[in-house]
Amino acid sequence: MSVITVERKVLKKNDQYALEIREHVALQKIVVLNLLSSPGSGKTTLLEKTLEKLKNRINTAVIEGDVQTDQDAVRIARHNVPVVQIVTNGGCHLDAALVLDALKQMDLSAVRLLFIENVGNLVCPAGFDLGEHHKIVIAGTTEGDDKPLKYPKTFRVADVCLINKIDLLPYLDFNVDVFIENAAKTNPGLTFFQLSAKTGEGLGPWIDWLENRTVAQP
Ligand code: MG
Ligand code: ZN
Repeated sequence: MSVITVERKVLKKNDQYALEIREHVALQKIVVLNLLSSPGSGKTTLLEKTLEKLKNRINTAVIEGDVQTDQDAVRIARHNVPVVQIVTNGGCHLDAALVLDALKQMDLSAVRLLFIENVGNLVCPAGFDLGEHHKIVIAGTTEGDDKPLKYPKTFRVADVCLINKIDLLPYLDFNVDVFIENAAKTNPGLTFFQLSAKTGEGLGPWIDWLENRTVAQP
């Protein structure tokens, strides 16, 4: 079927660009993290809190992917880190060609950690390699503990799962144990962090994990 052929070609091309990204960041010893979530998980807020904590510890840079507007990049730029906004104009995921273009516009000479905030969508971003070292899936407690069952591919390709908005647990039916059980069924190797970007609770172990990654990356 021609549709399948086209999709294969697209993914093959994507993988070539992803390889170029890997070569580009390997030279500078940069760790690249691809953040996946549905809209409203608190991804940008979490990223802002993470940048605050990493300030004076690790030099970071951010690529922001959004369907429209640069308002997330404006928020990130306040933290004085290099940031490039990719506006996909309706496109529902980032691909490696877009990320490579963005990388080439950035001064990464002092950067050790690059966050790519993907378009808010738990479906197709999982299929596109962006040359990252790790995919990170973020789920808010406001989303329901059945998310991993509904979007198994995203949870399968991720190495880390951040459960955000734990400060709201007393008011929600979200069951953390059920969520973790559902996610671990899909991906037994997944590492979980429970945190609240808003209150700062639980951020420490996540920050430690990030620091360990930049140390471990050859
Ligand atoms: Mg955002
Ligand atoms: Zn898409």
